[in-house]
Amino acid sequence: MPGTICLTFDDGPNPVWTPRILTALRRRAARATFFVQARRAVAHRGLIEEMLEAGHEVAFHCLDHIRHSQRTVEGVESDLTVGLEMLTRLGVEARAWRAPWGVETETTRALAGDRGLRLWGWNVDTHDWRGDDVRSMFGALEAQGGLRDGDVILMHDALGPGALRDGCPETVALTELLLATAERAGLRTATVSECEGALA
Ligand SMILES: [Zn+2]
Repeated sequence: MPGTICLTFDDGPNPVWTPRILTALRRRAARATFFVQARRAVAHRGLIEEMLEAGHEVAFHCLDHIRHSQRTVEGVESDLTVGLEMLTRLGVEARAWRAPWGVETETTRALAGDRGLRLWGWNVDTHDWRGDDVRSMFGALEAQGGLRDGDVILMHDALGPGALRDGCPETVALTELLLATAERAGLRTATVSECEGALA
């Protein structure tokens, strides 16, 4: 049984870059998880439909991209409640949640428990938001030992606050390279909730 890696994409969907990521995934019959910003999901609902049809997981990132450590309890709760309602209207029942910037507080964890959401961070950060080219991102990954069974890899299919680039072409290229590398290594891809099931 080959090992499994989880490709994850935050901050989308984006009408330019998400379709290119979806194409790269489709070419390798791969599955991934998209931690979406709710307003962007509503604005580009066709992309959400495409994700679901292709067997990808649509998961919750945020309504407003603000660190939970900088918000009130009520602010975090309403962000989650309103954001999840927006996703529900798109036919998405989110099971997974990644907080903005990966910053989790006691409030985050309590709400996740209440709503039956599993919180996800990552163990491989591509730092794609910095605008590095695909070679340097892949080189950094290889310097840390390359792809490994169980890796949860953080990428972005859209620009979030703090992004130091004006597009995501290097993320598309990195996705293609990671998928080719995984295939050669006998690693398959899965959504985070599928990985969770395999771990249980
Ligand atoms: Zn984000």
